[in-house]
Amino acid sequence: MKKRVLSGIRATGRLHLGNYLGAVKGMLELQNPSTGSGQEYETYYMVADVHTITTPYSVEELRKNRREVIIDYLAAGLDPEKSVIFQQSEVNEHLELAFYLSSVVTVAKMQHLPTFKDKVKQYPENVTMALLNYPVLMSADILIYKGELVPVGVDQEPHLEVAREIARRFNQDFGTNFPEPQRFKTNGEYVPSLTGEGKMSKSIEGSYINLTDNLDEIKSKIARIPTDSGQGSSVEGGVKSLFEFVELFQGKEKRDYLEAQYKGSGVKYSDIKLELSEAIFKELKPIQEKRREFESNPTLVDRIISEGNEKARRVAKETIKEVKEKMGLS
Ligand code: ATP
Ligand code: MG
Repeated sequence: MKKRVLSGIRATGRLHLGNYLGAVKGMLELQNPSTGSGQEYETYYMVADVHTITTPYSVEELRKNRREVIIDYLAAGLDPEKSVIFQQSEVNEHLELAFYLSSVVTVAKMQHLPTFKDKVKQYPENVTMALLNYPVLMSADILIYKGELVPVGVDQEPHLEVAREIARRFNQDFGTNFPEPQRFKTNGEYVPSLTGEGKMSKSIEGSYINLTDNLDEIKSKIARIPTDSGQGSSVEGGVKSLFEFVELFQGKEKRDYLEAQYKGSGVKYSDIKLELSEAIFKELKPIQEKRREFESNPTLVDRIISEGNEKARRVAKETIKEVKEKMGLS
């Protein structure tokens, strides 16, 4: 049997460079494994629209984004002939399994996760049960397809640890055969925020560059990365983020060269920022062109989504049937 893969992105906005490098690139790699590697995967890629409601959101924005994220996926190269592309909320079984799984998870454990603490800091007025349950729902997303590999950014590692623990507990207690899912890593597993603090996030204004940004937008966003006089003994904050972007889009050699200059005679940020903006745009341009094709063909997008939802449901239903039987619920 082929190994199964699951990944998803919240419908909290349009995709940014972090989502692309940390998640989508891995999703593509597993969808299109290099010929000759002998490995093939069955790939399930969703828009995590139910995860969106774990933090404050606008109904109108969610309605729009649960489709836009899929168009971003298609533009980036996810292929409905090779991957099951679907909407989480259309496969009710994810929610059903999440409730069953929650029976082996303690509240204390969930409250101690760094991801939970981050979101509490970001939204102190919205510490809800849904937020606390986020990792359990994510475990259900993966385990319902018996997913073994999960292409996600490094920020999601604590959630994968939860998924593995749940799988072990369930297998022990109920005799299920859930695999212990592993994260599939990419080079851009942690893309920093443009603010110089924390990671790039859809829900943090000023932190991101969207895949749909044009060259002028990219230039002005990169220009706002906070920098210093251009010289110093250790690279930190915005300068560190800037150099990380250089490495991601222009290579490690270029970064090492700039760091050495920074520690020596000094660097000129305007030139670095301009070159970097151009390198980023070069990578995004073909994605933007492909996006326009899908935007102009809404019936095709509708069909891709409804076929994906149907395929995902078929597999999810089998797992639910098995779990209910083993738990004494049928
Ligand atoms: P939100 O702010 O709403 O949580 P987000 O930008 O963190 O949005 P998610 O939808 O939570 O995006 O995550 C989608 C995927 O993108 C996950 O695999 C996550 O690990 C990855 N990801 C998110 N931000 C980054 C980042 N800055 N660098 C690398 N990967 C990232
Ligand atoms: Mg996030």
